[in-house]
Amino acid sequence: MRMWMLDVAREQCVTREHLFRYATETLDAGYDALGLYLEHRFAYPSTPWSHGTGVLTPETIRAVRSEFPSLRLVPFVNLLGHVEGFLYTEPGHRWAEEEMKGLQACPSNPDFVRFAEGILDDTLAIFDDEWVHIGGDETAQLGKCPSCQARVDAYPGDGKAALYAEHFGPLAARVVQAGRTPAVWGDMFLEHPDALAAMPRETVLFDWQYFNGVADTAARLGAHGHRVVGCPALHVYNAAWMHLGPSDENIRQVSRDVQALKLEGVCLTTWETTMFSSYDTLLPAVRAARAIMDDPEGAPSLLSAYDSEWANLMGVALNELGGVWGHSRHRHKLKSRMFLYADPFLASQHHAEEICGPVGDQALALVERAFAATDDEAEKGVALACRSMIEFVRMAHVAHLLYAEGQTERAVSALAPTRYLFETLERTAKRTHERIGGSLADIERARRAKAHVETVIQRIRQYGDGSLGYVPAWNVLTHPNFMPHDQASWWIVNAWGRP
Ligand SMILES: [Zn+2]
Repeated sequence: MRMWMLDVAREQCVTREHLFRYATETLDAGYDALGLYLEHRFAYPSTPWSHGTGVLTPETIRAVRSEFPSLRLVPFVNLLGHVEGFLYTEPGHRWAEEEMKGLQACPSNPDFVRFAEGILDDTLAIFDDEWVHIGGDETAQLGKCPSCQARVDAYPGDGKAALYAEHFGPLAARVVQAGRTPAVWGDMFLEHPDALAAMPRETVLFDWQYFNGVADTAARLGAHGHRVVGCPALHVYNAAWMHLGPSDENIRQVSRDVQALKLEGVCLTTWETTMFSSYDTLLPAVRAARAIMDDPEGAPSLLSAYDSEWANLMGVALNELGGVWGHSRHRHKLKSRMFLYADPFLASQHHAEEICGPVGDQALALVERAFAATDDEAEKGVALACRSMIEFVRMAHVAHLLYAEGQTERAVSALAPTRYLFETLERTAKRTHERIGGSLADIERARRAKAHVETVIQRIRQYGDGSLGYVPAWNVLTHPNFMPHDQASWWIVNAWGRP
């Protein structure tokens, strides 16, 4: 089994046209199956209240199966952890293991269990593949609510393993009863191996290891006779664009281990092309990964799949600068602070020293070269987003220095051009949405960032001259929670109220 798993849950809006393109790419590259990681981004008939704009529909799935009958379409649903797209809606919020925290539902809540069974039954009815992946990863909140804690305490041995097994064992059995093969992620079984015994023998374990091979972990997951699939990743979520070298090494190592241990197969995972990235920039790497799966020693590199200097600049040279650009296990900090919290000044607050120094100069030069090195709209968009982050942090830093000197109008002049950066990003996000079904939230993120800059410009003019009798600190003034006359900033001091 050679599979590519596409994450549509992270705000992707996959139309019939887009999925036809992905299906064509998957078959042309030689994969047996396209995995669709769905979470809340699928129009399950049993949850009409969860269908956000642009959600993938059953009609699109049926159209692809009809048009590409030789391509397996494997659904990946999530039935305990990573149900945040349901939990942060009004109908779903009551199932949260912890209110306004995390991404896991409560397995002791009978309504949630019925919801999970409903999603699973929908999936079994709409997808016709033998394999149905029922999720199971990253349930770090096991036992947090009082009901679950009581169950964990009541079990002998590893109570969390028992709690987990009592939820997923019956769901996997439901797939078997439907004559199909259940699949689950392996991470929680590595943490709580006692839970393995509860899974039907037919269950396939997906061992996701993005920083090493699977030699050690696959053996542990296979201890009860279950089949194991090795899962490497394109390192996108932790990169300005992608870490090509570490992705290449990861795919080769997992593929070597899968061959040596005669495992069930390899599933390339791709995650999170939100925050102004785009799936079409990854497709050459997805194609190259397929060749590596068969020939981990001799197949050409991921980098060689790109025909312009752009990929080397964005996927190798930029990352070699280290710091915030370097390879890490963390979601990319500059991108997250710039775009996730409706406050781009957060990026400036944390990264100004690095971005305004010599490494920032080098990063800006590299990104500008990358922008010029390609005619491809998708690649240009990624470079532009990266350049915009650097330029915003630098302009905001200059504005801060001028503000500190009391030069409010010059501070405004330094900050004003950043509005155009966000206007350009909004246009880029719209194009990505139309072209490949990219994130609608990115369009809103750009709008919100621009609006916040305008708010801050007003505040600089209104309060920067000391009209309040004091001059608010820059980080206070630029914060969305800033309140005139709350000189002591009790929204900071009184942190318990909003943890
Ligand atoms: Zn609970």
